[in-house]
Amino acid sequence: MPTVRSRILKVIRDAYPVTFEGLDPSTALGENVFSGPSPHPNAVLNLFVQQNLTSALPMAYYMAVRRGLDSLLDERLPESARLPPKILRRAMKGLLVLREMELTETRRLIFGSRSCSRPGCPSRDATGPGFSEAYHKIADRIVGSVELHAGTKLLQVLSLREICGDDGFGFCKGCVEAWEAGHADVRKKAWAALPDVFGLRA
Ligand SMILES: [Zn+2]
Repeated sequence: MPTVRSRILKVIRDAYPVTFEGLDPSTALGENVFSGPSPHPNAVLNLFVQQNLTSALPMAYYMAVRRGLDSLLDERLPESARLPPKILRRAMKGLLVLREMELTETRRLIFGSRSCSRPGCPSRDATGPGFSEAYHKIADRIVGSVELHAGTKLLQVLSLREICGDDGFGFCKGCVEAWEAGHADVRKKAWAALPDVFGLRA
């Protein structure tokens, strides 16, 4: 049994990493690591709390809140995936904080960027008619709906091409790359904040 347990723990440690460097989006993260049909992230969170897997808890909380309130509070879930009040309170508080961070950081990233000089880029002329509209569009697209139901994508790698289409609202390659690089720092910051966000510091 100890061998089995340590093997399982190894798999869990990879899927619910302790350090940001371990967070590789190309590998199975969170509940996707379990074979067969993936368990609901709430069920995983319950299990980790019961088993006292403290190091995996920040990521387990994140995976549970990532899908938003409808998933967190889903009444059709089996008993094992219903969160007890204490855990639910932490999860909801955490989701609020992450959502706020997502909005603030995205605005800072997009609106705080310096104007560039490439012809045709909306960023070139801060007084031009295209400027404000293009900036708002791109910021909205990154954070998705502002409703809590949307959950959060804070830890996901940002690909502006994926979310805005090939033309990227006309922004030049330089601007897009600068934002994507800036967003990598936002992910790192968010990751580091998870234990505090979910009230997990001893
Ligand atoms: Zn530009």
